[in-house]
Amino acid sequence: MPKDSALVFNIQHYSLHDGPGIRTIVFLKGCPLRCPWCSNPESQRFGPEVSYVADKCIAGMGCDRCALACPGAVHATPGADAITLDHEQLDHLDLNELTAFAKACPSKALTLEGRPMRVDEILDVVERDEVFFDRSGGGLTVSGGEPLSHRTFLTSLLAGAHERGISTAIETCGYAPYASLASAAEHLDYVLFDIKSMNDAKHRKWTGFGNTRILDNFRRLCADHPELPKLVRTPIIPGFNDSREDVAAILDFLHGLGGTDANITYQPLRYHRFGEGKYHALGRNYPMGTVKLDDDLFNAIRDDALASGLAAEALYHD
Ligand code: SF4
Ligand code: SF4
Repeated sequence: MPKDSALVFNIQHYSLHDGPGIRTIVFLKGCPLRCPWCSNPESQRFGPEVSYVADKCIAGMGCDRCALACPGAVHATPGADAITLDHEQLDHLDLNELTAFAKACPSKALTLEGRPMRVDEILDVVERDEVFFDRSGGGLTVSGGEPLSHRTFLTSLLAGAHERGISTAIETCGYAPYASLASAAEHLDYVLFDIKSMNDAKHRKWTGFGNTRILDNFRRLCADHPELPKLVRTPIIPGFNDSREDVAAILDFLHGLGGTDANITYQPLRYHRFGEGKYHALGRNYPMGTVKLDDDLFNAIRDDALASGLAAEALYHD
């Protein structure tokens, strides 16, 4: 990968849910956690990969370009409407080989997940939305994956945005050395910080890591930057943290850090299955199976958040 670059798997324009105003979201690839409900499974691995959407495939019309580009990675049956990718074989390919493989597809059934981009390239794209930022109070939100996993790159990106007069935010799970968060915070106007559970053992079992570092990081962020607006979010996940007690423990923690005095607001997020198709496109099973969130329970959790005095503005419209 070129120096001074990071792998970007998406740039999403005109978002209304990831910080104030209209946002342009830059998604950096790679996350240390492995939440089974993750709606962006293509964000998790730090390396590039290729996804495949069978609905777009024209193998049934005789296309075999991917098989010609990389015979070992494609299982094709003559006359079949779709192919099967061998992701283990694809794991042996480097970025250039994966790029060529995805490009061979004429119908966009294959997508390269993760394209190296430099800071100035990203900012040139983001800056095109400046008119929307100016009118709405919006700006750039860097998401992932985990943006704090790219400390030097992230700091340059946020600082570069400020130099161009673009407001900045990050979406983080908080799992990173505090130094990464501290250097990002110097160039941030807003933080969206996930706190998923106050229970360390449960956090470790479900995400692969405990919550100690995450809670410490948030505590230090509040102490060092009380003026920085912080939206804490909790995805409410069936079987993991779908109880009023789980959320009450998080709200207690936030009140203990100063609550609104530390510029903290709070929003529970409904579990959804939007990412399910992406798992299949990556050759993986959807880890959450068929579980569903109890609507009444979520509404009770939302009411608790509203009563806490910390409710984010968006919660009033949920
Ligand atoms: S922290 Fe976020 S990006 Fe990382 S695995 Fe969990 S849901 Fe996905
Ligand atoms: S190149 Fe694309 S459209 Fe053709 S068989 Fe492969 S995946 Fe399908």
